[in-house]
This record gives sequence, C-alpha cells and structure tokens, in this order.
Amino acid sequence: MREEYGEKIMYFKKLEIFGFKSFADKTVLNFEPGITAIVGPHGCGKSNIFDSIRWALGEQSIKELRGAAKEDVIFNGTQNKPSLGFAEVSVTFSNENRALPFDSDEVVITRRLFRSGESEYLLNKSIARLKDIQEILM
Ligand code: ATP
Repeated sequence: MREEYGEKIMYFKKLEIFGFKSFADKTVLNFEPGITAIVGPHGCGKSNIFDSIRWALGEQSIKELRGAAKEDVIFNGTQNKPSLGFAEVSVTFSNENRALPFDSDEVVITRRLFRSGESEYLLNKSIARLKDIQEILM
C-alpha cells in the first residue's frame, strides 16, 4: 500500500447502484488495482456514476448532483420501465491498510432515499448518521 504525505490512501473496491438516476437495474462496478476508466457516448450516464459516489458519501447539495429536488436522484422511469420508489448506492472501500478506523478489510457506506423523502445512511450495513459518515471521511 502506498502512503503519501503520511496519509494512507483509500481505494475504492466496489460500487453498487440501484434506482439512482439512470440506473434502473442493479449495477455493480468492481474496481481492480490500476486505473478504471468509464467510456460511453454522450448522455449515456457516465457522470451519473460519479454523482452516485458523491451522493453515497453524503453530498447535501442537489445542485452539485445536477438536480433540482432531492428526489431527482431516484430513477424516474422511461418509456419501457416504470419509475422506482427508492435509490440506493453502496461504496465499498478497501481497508486492508486500515486507513479508515475499522478493524475490517472492507468498509461499506450506503445511502438510501425513498420517494416519501425518508432517507438513511448505513455503515457496514448498520444504520448510521450522516455525521458518522462525514467523520470517518474527514
Ligand atoms: P456526459 O457524457 O455529458 O457526462 P453522461 O453520459 O454522463 O453525459 P448524464 O448527463 O449523466 O450522461 O445523463 C445521463 C442520462 O441520465 C440522461 O439521459 C438523463 O435523462 C438520465 N437521468 C438523470 N436522472 C434520471 C432519473 N432520475 N431517472 C431516469 N433517468 C435519469
């Protein structure tokens, strides 16, 4: 594991997206060591992947997520698929270098938002507060 400026580097291991923006079906991206590139035609949803990471890690500004209302991140339906009732994104960090304060090789941060407006964060599958997520990422 590399260390720079005395800080441990955090690596993404996996991204799971369901019901977020254009991701109507459950989508899993595994990040292998090295560089991961996302390619695709204009408007296919590349930026939505970046938005999903930002959102899961606690982004509070809907403008930064290119929406107008917070529910805009939930899949809104297309001609062929009905809209969904909630969005869920999980980001798995590799924690083999214990960069995050958990005694486990992986740390999973999950954010969920229901159309009703109800929302929750999970840390390693247990309910957490936004503050907990912000503190470990600080
Ligand atoms: P660029 O290449 O310009 O970065 P992109 O490939 O990243 O574009 P986006 O601009 O992220 O694509 O938009 C991708 C698509 O996601 C658009 O067609 C948009 O309609 C769709 N989209 C965004 N929010 C939702 C939503 N809530 N439900 C369904 N589709 C959505």
